[in-house]
Amino acid sequence: TVSVVLYTSDLRVHDHPPLRAATQGAEEVVPVFVRDPAVDRAGFAAPNRLAFLADCLEDLDRAMRERGGRLVLREGDTVSEVRALVRQIDADEVHMAAGVTAFARRREARLRRALEEDGCRLYVHDGVVTVVPPGDVLPQGSDHFAVFTPYFRRWAAEPIRAPFAAPRRLRVPSGVRSEPIPRRSAVAGVSPGLPVGGESEGRKRLGSWLTGRLGTYDDGHDDLAGDATSRLSPYFHFGALSATEAVHRARGRGGQGADAFVRQLCWRDFHHQVLAARPRAAEADYRSRPGRWRVGADAEADLAAWREGRTGYPVVDAAMRQLAHEGWMHNRGRLITASFLSKTLCIDWREGARHFLGLLVDGDVANNQLNWQWVAGTGTDTRPNRVLNPVAQAKRYDPDGGYVRHWVPELAGLDGPAVHEPWRLAGLDRAALDYPDPLVGLREGLARFRELRGSA
Ligand code: FAD
Repeated sequence: TVSVVLYTSDLRVHDHPPLRAATQGAEEVVPVFVRDPAVDRAGFAAPNRLAFLADCLEDLDRAMRERGGRLVLREGDTVSEVRALVRQIDADEVHMAAGVTAFARRREARLRRALEEDGCRLYVHDGVVTVVPPGDVLPQGSDHFAVFTPYFRRWAAEPIRAPFAAPRRLRVPSGVRSEPIPRRSAVAGVSPGLPVGGESEGRKRLGSWLTGRLGTYDDGHDDLAGDATSRLSPYFHFGALSATEAVHRARGRGGQGADAFVRQLCWRDFHHQVLAARPRAAEADYRSRPGRWRVGADAEADLAAWREGRTGYPVVDAAMRQLAHEGWMHNRGRLITASFLSKTLCIDWREGARHFLGLLVDGDVANNQLNWQWVAGTGTDTRPNRVLNPVAQAKRYDPDGGYVRHWVPELAGLDGPAVHEPWRLAGLDRAALDYPDPLVGLREGLARFRELRGSA
């Protein structure tokens, strides 16, 4: 038999159920990735992610070549390209990972119909993108968990399989056409601090994370200046790392750090299962009412200041500048900046989510949109009117001010936590700073929020 492995968000050879099934069942296997303009139109085409994707594809091709094969790259409509390939090599089977987004599911359904007509079977594999497949654990009487903690309890009790080894050999039939693998250097507008992508790099980082700072993760993960999270999210996003393997290996090490890390990976599954059951959650505002968001010229100006990191709240500005520079932001920064936009500036969370998606190297529909919904209090959150105070957050999670001084050089001369409240400086000292006043006072922002939400 001849099999095709269609790669999407799963760019790896280790712990890869579709590749494993294909190589076990067929003499010849063609691994293919399709650069589909429809994916770009659906919001994927951000330079940071295209650059990281190029790294991932290059590394995947290298891994295939080390095993005697190669990666085939096609450009065009995924279904038409796969169908043409299947006909050309007379493939019997296509293997791919189950998708979660509405887009991925439509693509899967179209592919299934097209292949059926040609007498080729499509195998869609669970447990590639998420650890526990969406829908595998359910509350009574509903098609998904809307609240995290009960989901986590059930999720943590699910048995998970041991990770699969990468196949040793791969035989790709000759004469299969491939476009050149894209190069990261060909992508313009990439954040200067973007990490290197690819499975090899991801595995290296996972290995040193597990033997290194994982142990202190429980205590350190909210410390902005400490930068003590794994930074593995882009590798999980592109599937260059398997979340199942990460959970398995972290549990193998044990301890509170490992428990806390596994719990964060559960958040990833949680959002995926919400999105799988509620595709509209990517855009909908479930508690919407007219006049709830500020609009008009003032709001536009505030939004621009937020995007550019000049709101006058140092911790907000630091985090927004980290995002622009690295294509990544610390989770605590994401929480603070998202709360600030949606609850202090009272600007529609979808504006913020769009800006994040334009820059985040780990940006995806499930995690970005649903985390935004959660922070904005428009989704499944049980405390929709909680507002994070950016000054209190800064003092708590950047107590010495090192994170702010690093990202906001205008304030680098201010010692200790004073950096979080430059407006408190006496006249001349304040005037000497080239740094804006706050866009809005926190009390004023809160009053406006309550008024707009009708929750005063
Ligand atoms: P670690 O703290 O090391 O966590 C380990 C892994 O767990 C992460 O790599 C990630 O895969 C997963 N994870 C951790 N927290 C969450 C969470 N809250 N939700 C889902 N998964 C999580 N994460 C994305 O992967 N893509 C996004 O587009 C995204 N957008 C976000 C937008 C907002 C407004 C907020 C508040 C959070 C968002 N997150 C997103 C979640 C989280 O901020 C990042 O996953 C995390 O900061 C990545 O850094 P890390 O790899 O060092 O995480």
